[in-house]
Amino acid sequence: MALTLRYAALSDVGRVRKDNQDSGLASDYLLVVADGVGGAVRGDLASSTAVQALRRLDRPAGGDLLEALAGGFHRAHDRIAELVEDDPELEGTSTTITAALFDGSRLAVGHLGDSRAYLFRDGEVSQLTTDHTFVQSLVDEGRITEEEARTHPHRNLILRAVDAIHETDPDLFYVEVAPGDRIMLCSDGCSGVLDNSRLADILGTGTPDFAAVELVRAALEAGTTDNVTAVVADVVEAPDGAEGNGADTAAQTSAAASTGAMLVGAAAELPRNKAPRGLFRGHRSGDTGELEPVPGSEASAGRGLPFLGRRAEPEEDLDPEELRYAPRPPRRWVWLRRLALAVVLLALLGGGLKLGYDWTQRQYFVSADGDDVAIFRGISAEIPGVELATVHERTTVRVASLPEYRARQVRSGIDARDLADARQIVTRLEELVIECEPDPTSGPSSSPTSSPTGSPTGRATGGGRTPAPGPTSAPAPTGSPTASPTASTSTAPPTATPGDPCGEEAP
Ligand code: MN
Repeated sequence: MALTLRYAALSDVGRVRKDNQDSGLASDYLLVVADGVGGAVRGDLASSTAVQALRRLDRPAGGDLLEALAGGFHRAHDRIAELVEDDPELEGTSTTITAALFDGSRLAVGHLGDSRAYLFRDGEVSQLTTDHTFVQSLVDEGRITEEEARTHPHRNLILRAVDAIHETDPDLFYVEVAPGDRIMLCSDGCSGVLDNSRLADILGTGTPDFAAVELVRAALEAGTTDNVTAVVADVVEAPDGAEGNGADTAAQTSAAASTGAMLVGAAAELPRNKAPRGLFRGHRSGDTGELEPVPGSEASAGRGLPFLGRRAEPEEDLDPEELRYAPRPPRRWVWLRRLALAVVLLALLGGGLKLGYDWTQRQYFVSADGDDVAIFRGISAEIPGVELATVHERTTVRVASLPEYRARQVRSGIDARDLADARQIVTRLEELVIECEPDPTSGPSSSPTSSPTGSPTGRATGGGRTPAPGPTSAPAPTGSPTASPTASTSTAPPTATPGDPCGEEAP
């Protein structure tokens, strides 16, 4: 059974932009939507050039449709490269292409960018193409939903397109079609604001012409700020006998009866506007002669939109369209890479700190814990908020009982090689503990009350160590009765003088 297409195409500059950089084509064998990217660098030239390059495919195809389509994409790339070669100011121009090639039974789809192809069948809309966009990659990874993608700040950013530089590598696939199917191609100015259920509502009614008009109208009403292009084609049974070479004329007659090939958007407008060459010096190569480029302002005037054109001028420098095509996914990867680097650095730093801290916890030193000598674990350095040393072992040695020089050493900390070394240091310190020699502090304190017994008392308290001399001394019997009352009344501390290093030694 031979099939044929009934089609319509419509493109609108929209309510915000001053020129239309979309191009569209609907014909017997070929449907194309191309959305030019580049703002000031003439995306309209890229899209119209692409459509013109693909237009050669609008004839009864022999052989592999996908190969033919791939060839068309390559030609589009070559033509755009020639444009840029002729006028380096066009560098950076590029275009999306979504194209469907029909051979009377099968439909082949080629696709690069974020224009879309849909199939409307049995009241249901299904999207045939997958956007080559940053947000689509996020959706694919499950990071955001389709709904979130619609409002994502970078939803316009496309990662692949046909340009003058990169190798053209479109998605290519066949779609089996049957009578009653409706194919729809559109630019993001349309699909960006109309979801599938809205599209199904519109595609479910009327002729291709009516549907195309409704799509553009609905997109504008939905508030799109972009150019809007829609191509609609119904798959219908070819009139009887319209098969084979002899029937070509019949098929053409039926197609012509409906519409004839329709070229819309920049592809249709550029050749129409025969403006002076002005900005574009020199001549162009012959086969692109029909695509006379015109300065933007004159193109606007030619389209009767001088007001819009003038109003858009201040925004020209900030046209987001110029930032639309990024062959490399930007922000996310940069951000991720920076994050990874920061994590690695932090890990190294953390690991280093941990190693360093572990090291400090294997160090020991001897120092003062209040009044007592203690063995500390850690290092005797002070970092605010970080505990670098803890008391590991307490000793019975009082700092004050040490010779002044040693006491000072202890207070500032004596480093040890390890715990055993620290214990040896403590042992040596114990040996240095001052014997209770006549003490300049205890002497005067007791003398005012009992000068004669002062010295025996001092002896007696320190005598814990050497009990023998006390009792053996002759004056003891007389001394002690007199000494004890005085000691108990006036100098209660003698048994445990806080300031006396020897006082603590006895118990
Ligand atoms: Mn667009």
